[in-house]
Amino acid sequence: MRIDCHNDTVGFLRNNDSLERQSGAHLDFERLRTYLDCSFFAVFIDQKKYAADLSGEFSRMLGLLKADIAQAPGVELLLNGSQLDTDPPEKSLILLSMEGASPLGDDGELLDEYFAAGLRALGLTWNYATPYAGGAREGGGVTAAGRRLISRCNDLGILLDGAHASHAAFSDLLRLSRSPIIDSHTVCAAFGDDFGRALTDEELRALAAKGGVAAITFVADFLGAGGSLDRLCEHIEYAVSLIGSEHVGLGADYDGAKLAPELAGVQFLPALYGRLRQRGMAESDLENVKGNSVRRLLRQVLPR
Ligand SMILES: [Zn+2]
Repeated sequence: MRIDCHNDTVGFLRNNDSLERQSGAHLDFERLRTYLDCSFFAVFIDQKKYAADLSGEFSRMLGLLKADIAQAPGVELLLNGSQLDTDPPEKSLILLSMEGASPLGDDGELLDEYFAAGLRALGLTWNYATPYAGGAREGGGVTAAGRRLISRCNDLGILLDGAHASHAAFSDLLRLSRSPIIDSHTVCAAFGDDFGRALTDEELRALAAKGGVAAITFVADFLGAGGSLDRLCEHIEYAVSLIGSEHVGLGADYDGAKLAPELAGVQFLPALYGRLRQRGMAESDLENVKGNSVRRLLRQVLPR
């Protein structure tokens, strides 16, 4: 099964009617149906720009995305783990994710409402601190409100995402969550960590020990060395050798960051699979990295 764990494609709905066909984007529904079986769609609300009405803006964007999905043939929301029982699934699945929990209020007041609306993955922070945790740029661990939020996510079946958490918050999240977690778009700090949120060997091992998945991102600045296809393969191979392919996935960050031309679009995924194979990755490992690891995690964490 082919799964991608992070994109910011929803942002196109600020200026366009539909995600059905967006030739200027890295991803649209048309290509989703061809190249992926499931994709996380993150709704990211800049907490400084929209400080006056964070939840209003989140609700607005969520509404636009859901209305667009509702009229797209062959695409549906991923709400229950059972939708992943067949491979491939009946339709191309979209998992709604919130990147940074600040639209939930100061004490998670809106979590249940957004769960009912389809939210199935949540990052406690973007780069800045929220009422729930420290962000990659500001440091600080998980707060008391963050603890309550983590527990409620575990109860509901919302997958927790450690991307953008500070190192302290990542460690707290791993310790506090009763379910395995994901890092939906990350890289291996062994190659450098200029942005404060690459995963160290120790973090990768702890994530895997808990049953989680590290989804390697295609972001050129994070990968280093120009973010080339081979450089991406090196990060993936490193993670696989360290923690096993069953804990490694892909989280491109389509339409959220600058990607090398050879990776800048979901249509280049087959070339990535081919290159990993050519460089010597075993077929069973490749299947895990393509999405089977994340499929296993989602079937475990999401409601049945
Ligand atoms: Zn991000």
